[in-house]
Amino acid sequence: MGNEQLEELRNQLDKVNLQLMELINERASLVKEIGRVKSAQGLNRFDPVRERKMLDLIAENNKGPFETSTLQHIFKQIFKAGLELQEDDHSKALLVSRKKHPDNTIVTIKKEAVGDGKQRLIAGPCSVESYEQVEEVAKALKAEGIKFLRGGAFKPRTSPYDFQGLGEEGLKILKDVARKYDLAVISEIVSPQHIEMALDYVDVIQIGARNMQNFELLKAAGSVDKPVLLKRGLAATIEEFVNAAEYIHSKGNGNIMLCERGIRTYEKATRNTLDISAVPILKQETHLPVWVDVTHSTGRRDLLLPTAKAALAIGADGVMAEVHPDPAVALSDSAQQMDIPQFKEFVSNLIESGLYKREKEPVQQK
Ligand code: PEP
Ligand code: MN
Repeated sequence: MGNEQLEELRNQLDKVNLQLMELINERASLVKEIGRVKSAQGLNRFDPVRERKMLDLIAENNKGPFETSTLQHIFKQIFKAGLELQEDDHSKALLVSRKKHPDNTIVTIKKEAVGDGKQRLIAGPCSVESYEQVEEVAKALKAEGIKFLRGGAFKPRTSPYDFQGLGEEGLKILKDVARKYDLAVISEIVSPQHIEMALDYVDVIQIGARNMQNFELLKAAGSVDKPVLLKRGLAATIEEFVNAAEYIHSKGNGNIMLCERGIRTYEKATRNTLDISAVPILKQETHLPVWVDVTHSTGRRDLLLPTAKAALAIGADGVMAEVHPDPAVALSDSAQQMDIPQFKEFVSNLIESGLYKREKEPVQQK
């Protein structure tokens, strides 16, 4: 007898569930229709005043047994789901997402393709210090058949009393050296006002970790026709990183490359923790080339080679590493830059491992 009663009540409950479902879906159709009308009138979809009125109406008519606060909580969820339905697809399928664009983006920098399946290296000093310093590194790159020369002219340092970089003069040095050795220049720009100026000097605008959520800078870099290398923020989630790239893309510049450079964790054995799994995640979720900066992620010269191998093995489009003619006297990051013989050994070890192939035939040094 008891069992039959239970069965009957359960049947009624199932019916009510289905009725609720139908009603919620009916509501969703209305919400979508309202969204279309509002959008045609240029009105904002989220309307807190209207939402308050709906909640008040529920409060006035509630006869229980649910408490009004409970009902309001449930309805808030329904409202939220409705609002999400109204949202355009753009919030669900970002311009940088694979969903939007299944093919890999290939970024061409001075006739060199990045993202075409061939893995590459970016190398150069942490900071530009002098013409001679950059030239020495450039010669080594040329000798190794490497095309991409990095160097910081604007240095976002932790302390305001540390070397801040040579500024525009540093960019000029990079450009002059790169022209002499036919290399492409990658350099960090820290201020939106410097983007236009930088166009004359660099082949790739780097946006550094500390500026990954400098939205004005992202928008400025997105408004010009120059490839951008966007580094992951010190404590940025992958979602935040991808959205930062979206800021650039949303302004029209789709030539974006991502760079995993380690994130801050509680681990102190390395300067940052290289999030190696971010590489395949970024490759899956976006269509952009992905680099790994082994210098800033580890902060340790002894880890550059194993982490570079890991990056290449896991499918990064390239590896960035810092090289200085005399790291001991470098004005920044002296503990982790390779000197030139160490760099050559680094490249030969990568080649020997079978993970890396030279981009070009090496050029004999004069
Ligand atoms: C750099 O590459 O010069 C640099 C400062 O790195 P990050 O922004 O990743 O710290
Ligand atoms: Mn550095």
